[in-house]
Amino acid sequence: MTEKLYDLDSFITEFDATVISCTPIDKGFEIVLDKTAFFPESGGQYGDKGKIGESEILDTYYKGEEIVHQGKTPVEKDSVVHCSLFFEERFRKMQNHTAEHIVSSLIHRKYGFNNVGFHLSREFTTCDFNGLLTSKQLSEIEFLANKAVYENVEVICYYPEESVLETLDYRSKGELEGKVRIVEIKGIDMCACCAPHVKYTGQIGVIKILGFIKYKNGIRITMKSGYDAYEDYRSRAEQDEVLSSILSAPQNDLVPALKEKLDFLDASKAEGAKIRFAMSEIIADSVQNTNESICKYVPMFGIDDLRKLCNLLIGKTEKICAAISDADDGYLFVCESKDMNLRNLSKKISTDLNGKCGGSETMISGKLNTDKESIIRYFEKEMYND
Ligand SMILES: [Zn+2]
Repeated sequence: MTEKLYDLDSFITEFDATVISCTPIDKGFEIVLDKTAFFPESGGQYGDKGKIGESEILDTYYKGEEIVHQGKTPVEKDSVVHCSLFFEERFRKMQNHTAEHIVSSLIHRKYGFNNVGFHLSREFTTCDFNGLLTSKQLSEIEFLANKAVYENVEVICYYPEESVLETLDYRSKGELEGKVRIVEIKGIDMCACCAPHVKYTGQIGVIKILGFIKYKNGIRITMKSGYDAYEDYRSRAEQDEVLSSILSAPQNDLVPALKEKLDFLDASKAEGAKIRFAMSEIIADSVQNTNESICKYVPMFGIDDLRKLCNLLIGKTEKICAAISDADDGYLFVCESKDMNLRNLSKKISTDLNGKCGGSETMISGKLNTDKESIIRYFEKEMYND
């Protein structure tokens, strides 16, 4: 059984170990050592990376009881190798993981809910709780969690004797087998956990809850801590700077400035629609009542505008009316009819005019990829031909 150096000290980054075995697999080699500081994927946390001798370690995981390091190249069995962890990534995991303990403990103590799911990825940490909380309640938890960070509380990990364990009031995520490892954040939390954590809460830096969704019978919160939270903040600040320049507004005033721009955009859109409807009324007024079909081309109309124009034109004819406008490639069209079932005809129209359309019995719309003159001729005359 490999000795778990990370159990004793989560800050061991370099060590020497003896290679117990090195087995070729599809994606490289599975290396087993007599001792390791690489934490294997477990409990929602992904495996460590680094180097064993000259072999780059891409992942660390459990295979049965055995801790296996996935190496790119082989190392010699029975040789003593120098090993090093890719510690920057591992430290981020320790920051996020310890932050999860603090948040879970605060929620448990204040609301009685348990952490029933934990997942730590390179992008986010998610924690699931078996009860509902509001964003205001989570804000308060976040504040208290950061207070615990700034109080720089010691984090200790140990295996208590069975008799001592029985007396401890600790959180755990299920039935535990074998010796129980307790992670204690003094005065804040006591939890059974096998992963590496920071030594003092101050090393977490900052804890930020980014959002939550309802999940199963409770909530799933997304959070970032430490370097990940700092990088997130930096990226948001950069975005704010760009937005501030686009909106010509100070960074602490972006929301009202954006709202003002969107309101202006909405008003402009409504104004445009009004103008296009007035154009439709002028076009419809210029058309005499007729027994023939009608087709009108109006540039810059959208599908909604074409539909409204058809609704005005249909009163002028006993047959069909159509309206078309330019699309990115081809033409948008709407066609309305008094005497034909357009839904049944939509396949024929699509074939005849190289397009796609659909709709109801009395009105169809879509996009056509043929020339404008052919489309107008088709709706005015040829559509009635078999
Ligand atoms: Zn833990």
